[in-house]
Amino acid sequence: MQPPYRADHVGSLKRSPQLIEAHQAHDKGKVSDDALRALEDGEIAACIRMQEDVGLDVLSDGELRRGGWTGDFVHAVSGFERGEPPVELRWANRHGGQPPAAQIITQPLRQRARFTKTEADFLKRHTDRPCKITLPAASYLVARGYKPGVTDKVYKTRAEALAAVAAILRAEIKSLLEEGVDYIQIDNPHYPDYLMESVQSQWRALGIDPKQALAEDIAADNATVAGLNRADATVAMHFCRGNGGSAYWHSEGSYEPIAEQCFGQLDYDRFLLEYDTDRAGGFEPLRFVPKRKIAVLGLISTKVSALESSDLIRRRIDEAARFTPLNALALSPQCGFSSTLLGNDVSPDQQRQKLALVVDVARTVWGDA
Ligand SMILES: [Zn+2]
Repeated sequence: MQPPYRADHVGSLKRSPQLIEAHQAHDKGKVSDDALRALEDGEIAACIRMQEDVGLDVLSDGELRRGGWTGDFVHAVSGFERGEPPVELRWANRHGGQPPAAQIITQPLRQRARFTKTEADFLKRHTDRPCKITLPAASYLVARGYKPGVTDKVYKTRAEALAAVAAILRAEIKSLLEEGVDYIQIDNPHYPDYLMESVQSQWRALGIDPKQALAEDIAADNATVAGLNRADATVAMHFCRGNGGSAYWHSEGSYEPIAEQCFGQLDYDRFLLEYDTDRAGGFEPLRFVPKRKIAVLGLISTKVSALESSDLIRRRIDEAARFTPLNALALSPQCGFSSTLLGNDVSPDQQRQKLALVVDVARTVWGDA
């Protein structure tokens, strides 16, 4: 029986200015692997204590070893090259600046190393609470990395590329489950693309049929977790609308157009959904979440520093419970606090207060389950 993890969070936490500097200096060869690792170890240990003190139901390592939320995947797997994205997302960014470059699949994908073992081992060694590891979705990596004219020289179809990525991810997840990781979360900023006509028209221009692509994406994200021994583990998917520097987002609109297919067909135990702004629309699509699954409401924003009112969050949960049973809901922030190295404009204290609010409201609404 898997715990309901009522007080959840998406995973990434703020890095200290020293750690950010060390990461940047390490990239330039000015800080050794060992020195960076030592600094990360100390900060991760502290961030594990913080999560324990706050009382979250599942703990991450804050993704503090990562330069960004996708982590080591594109480094541990050869075959990617940085390049222009196949389609342009409408990145809304109040600070200006460029959207991130894409990792294009240009060669057959080959895994060179495990990409989350160091994170998982350290996390397991430093807490006896349930542990979460996050990984990018196969459908995301292919949506952003499959470029007709380039990738089809290596993988003839999107579906072939999806199968290759899913197989690599599945092997990693299988190892993590065998090593005792309690909770695997697949992060996916791609499904909300299907809410944006501006993205779909670009796919059509590239010869990609959105309807077929959605079916292929769901099949690949299911292949990622197919046949694994999940009896004692939780497998979740986070639907992401973009996060970085408190500013970025790229997708808006209700989950309605994709809800029936995604919530109904994705073989995941829970869905972490952004619900921190009106851009996410109403709770009606939650009626498509099968009763055995949990919808984690991302009602607390990691993008603004002001602390939400607990009354308001409770009222929003009550509204959501009109469309799916209360015991099929849980609570979290809408996304991580630091999907990028620099993270959002939220101080460590504010981050802690927001996580404490998640726990406080979760205990009030669902008790200590
Ligand atoms: Zn997100």
